Amino acid sequence: ILFPEDFTEATRVTLTGRRHAHIQQVHRAAPGDRLKVGLLDGAIGRGRVLDIDDNRVELEVTLQQSAPAPLPLTVILALPRPKMLKRIIEHVTTLGAKRIYLVNAYRVEKSYWQSPWLQPEKLRELCLLGLEQAVDTRMPTIELRKRFKPFVEDELDEIAADSRRLVAHPVTDSPCPVDMDEPVTLAVGPEGGFIPYEVEKLQEKGFEGVHLGPRILRVETALPVLLGRLFPGR
Ligand code: SAM
Repeated sequence: ILFPEDFTEATRVTLTGRRHAHIQQVHRAAPGDRLKVGLLDGAIGRGRVLDIDDNRVELEVTLQQSAPAPLPLTVILALPRPKMLKRIIEHVTTLGAKRIYLVNAYRVEKSYWQSPWLQPEKLRELCLLGLEQAVDTRMPTIELRKRFKPFVEDELDEIAADSRRLVAHPVTDSPCPVDMDEPVTLAVGPEGGFIPYEVEKLQEKGFEGVHLGPRILRVETALPVLLGRLFPGR
């Protein structure tokens, strides 16, 4: 559950809609029960149920602790099909990525860019679901880039400054490194993979190809596996 950034002290909060339904149906909460709640931008609080009925729940919320630290990770992701995009954004947010760039690539279908899920408020909704799952409160930034070449040539150096640059690519010799102690910028291809030209452009910018073994994974499988290897236990 996420409340506004300016939340600082014990406050009475009334929740309706999806959040009320979650507390009533999933937690089966009753007056007096305590719940963990997220307060935007790093804080976690404790909520005591004051009253609950079929329409609303009233909570008294107090600040408690900090949210987990975000991973020092920027994901450069070739735009996946809309159905997959929804799950990926949610999962990558749950896992703690700090920044996400959704970029074009040769094998990204043009129609994917029409997806309503690319609207900022929709992306935010997906991120909120991901954050709530992880009891985290730090929203990743998400930016869209519809042209691959200018993005790589003009922007990527700055975006990836001071980070290890990796491109997940099944046909490469180096296995994905484990347990990084430095920031990472990670590029992940579209369903059909990056074309050789795109891999070369990324390599020109210092991106090392890394693989996850002989199995070809869906993007939505590859990303959690990559994050689990790069930052285990974080
Ligand atoms: N035939 C495509 C190729 O060879 O690139 C497969 C693309 S795969 C379905 C989609 C993306 O997920 C890839 O571009 C890569 O970024 C990532 N991926 C999937 N399996 C991988 C693996 N075994 N090693 C590294 N990356 C992988």
